[in-house]
Amino acid sequence: MKKPNSQPKNNTAGQTYRGRFAPSPSGELHFGSLLAAMASYADARAHNGQWLLRIDDIDQARVVPDSAEHIIRTLEQLGFEWDESIYYQSRHIRDYRQALNTLNEKKLTYPCFCSRKQIKTRSSNGIYPGTCRPDNQAEQTGTDKECAIRIRVPGHPLNFMDQIQGDYTQQLAQEVGDFIIYRRDKVFTYQLSIVVDEYLSNITHIIRGRDLIDSTPRQIYLQQQLGYPTPIYAHIPLAVTPQQLKLSKLSRARKVRCDLPTLVQAARFLGQDIAPDNHYQSLQDFWQHLFDIWQLKRVPKMEKIEIMY
Ligand code: GLU
Repeated sequence: MKKPNSQPKNNTAGQTYRGRFAPSPSGELHFGSLLAAMASYADARAHNGQWLLRIDDIDQARVVPDSAEHIIRTLEQLGFEWDESIYYQSRHIRDYRQALNTLNEKKLTYPCFCSRKQIKTRSSNGIYPGTCRPDNQAEQTGTDKECAIRIRVPGHPLNFMDQIQGDYTQQLAQEVGDFIIYRRDKVFTYQLSIVVDEYLSNITHIIRGRDLIDSTPRQIYLQQQLGYPTPIYAHIPLAVTPQQLKLSKLSRARKVRCDLPTLVQAARFLGQDIAPDNHYQSLQDFWQHLFDIWQLKRVPKMEKIEIMY
């Protein structure tokens, strides 16, 4: 893929800006994912930074055949140009295992034998009550050899400054509980895998949907335990249907159309002062204008945007 012509500019930490878009190949690219792709791409290019494409295919059972190829083709048809070769999570299992070993060595993890049903009966709010923590071993009731691996969470609050949503704090112990990093069916979880991915790809800026903001403190906690730097985060509003359904396969979101009006509509939803589509001669012309005028601070600070789609 083509690289930007100009020299990369440094972010405040003195590193080259590196952003990314990381779709899961569980269906076509819909308008909600287009917003995340556009916001991360435009912000990277507006900083003369790099922008990478990652396919989050760790959970092979959820992968819809050919959807990664469809997503990649749709992005190409919309004029996105990424740097470097595409990163596939499924090729990094050894890296996730290494990270898990590091956490095991730090004695932060423990096997958990509880079924969902058992957790439900033991916890009124659905938060894992720490049944299998080694210090509670007398209570451990599991008999099967198959187990998940959980990580202990700290008692103190985790806080970060989101570039769109502002100050965000979560009490991991009360709001999340010790969480799973390796599933009983032998799959590394989203939380652990993407923390390793961002580190391996030297990602400095993460722009993604608002539905993932409550995962961010878990990811920051894992970064801290693994000795990785924490990127800068920005969470864009979630695109929902007028019935408040997330634009995804569940709400039968249609594949995005690969044309200028779609791009202009997406840029407007992201609050950018973009011209009508007949102003642009080509997709390249649109993108160059968007990079020139892009301002992250114009992206609306709200939880959801309703999209008639
Ligand atoms: N693969 C995730 C998804 O499609 C997004 C991961 C992320 O941006 O952190 O929902």
